[in-house]
Amino acid sequence: AETWENVPLAPPDSIFNLNTAYKADTFPRKVNLGVGAYRDDNSKPWVLPVVKKATEILLNDPTLDHEYLPITGLPEFTSAAARLILGSDSPAIAEKRVTSVQTISGTGANHLAALFLSRFYVFNGAKRIYVPDPTWINHYSIIRNVGIEPLTYKYYDPKTIGLACDEALGDLVSMPDRSVILLHACAHNPTGVDPTQEQWGQIAEVMLRKGHYAFFDCAYQGFASGDLDRDAWAVREFVKRGVPSLICQSFAKNAGLYGERIGALHVVASSPEVADRVRSQLSVLTRSEISNPPAHGARLIALILNNPELFEQWKVDIKAMANRIIEMRKELYKLLTEELKTPGAWNHITDQIGMFSFTGINAEQSQALIDKTHIYLTTNGRISMAGLNTKNIRYFAESLDKAVR
Ligand code: PLP
Repeated sequence: AETWENVPLAPPDSIFNLNTAYKADTFPRKVNLGVGAYRDDNSKPWVLPVVKKATEILLNDPTLDHEYLPITGLPEFTSAAARLILGSDSPAIAEKRVTSVQTISGTGANHLAALFLSRFYVFNGAKRIYVPDPTWINHYSIIRNVGIEPLTYKYYDPKTIGLACDEALGDLVSMPDRSVILLHACAHNPTGVDPTQEQWGQIAEVMLRKGHYAFFDCAYQGFASGDLDRDAWAVREFVKRGVPSLICQSFAKNAGLYGERIGALHVVASSPEVADRVRSQLSVLTRSEISNPPAHGARLIALILNNPELFEQWKVDIKAMANRIIEMRKELYKLLTEELKTPGAWNHITDQIGMFSFTGINAEQSQALIDKTHIYLTTNGRISMAGLNTKNIRYFAESLDKAVR
């Protein structure tokens, strides 16, 4: 018999399917709102000017070679990345309690974090990680891959198209003590719904009381509000309050380095000794999986973070992306409420933050948008704001208006 006779055909990735259908569509005004990557006002990928500058510098650096990086990554990258998320004045960094390891972008950080927890976290009973409902779909596979069961806590309230804060807090209280809780640091994917600072405080309080562990996934720092510090607020607040935490960090979106696979995992420990032991084990795990991480993206980000001039330029570039998306939210809101008088409340469009927005439309309405108007989105009603621009937003608003009437 054929060796792989018993391998079942896996279903194709739904986003991938959506992109294929979009590409095959010959309708001139087709719109792709499925993409999870930034697009400029002409629907084109955007290479950040700061990345072009940094690339230029690397190209002209005669000392660069293609040797292996250290197992835990480029030290100038990991240390600067830790300061970026935790704050350059972070006491945890000053006290040498933070361990930082370079990873294969945010996905690799999530994987390494879950793998590390699977090996070393003292679970209270079965190995479980609680993720928000809904969450980035890949969280489920990443967590299952390392033998941990993903369970959910209530997060999103379809009635308000906002945060189900009381239910979320209730779930955090009723689950076993010392549970691991996955939190989106900012710009929750797929809903675009984030807790307010006050709500984050309530979450931190319950987690401290229950002895829960915070597993932060931070894929959009700076990309959400346009301000790197503001988007890091929740992480810094948790660390300040002493909630035991790790952070998965990605530079895919905020530096437009999707394909370079550059990210980091930061574990905040209770002492420098513990941090050293954690680092040693993360190093062992990394060695067995990827031997050592790729160099190019790490060099780019290290340059950008450590050179004051480039860092300022990066902030300008980040603002350009975030502001364009915020503008699209305002414009969509205006078109729906003032011009088209579309039935329903649409304030969630401007309340939500980041690349994605849950529009609140159902699966049939989403499918109708695809079939009748050539607007491609996932059938949970999620749209990528980055897919909207000054040329297609009116067509989208009018189509959405028709779909909900
Ligand atoms: N986590 C969340 C919530 C995301 O939305 C993404 C990307 O879509 C990632 C992690 C990881 O992305 P990457 O591996 O490209 O950094």
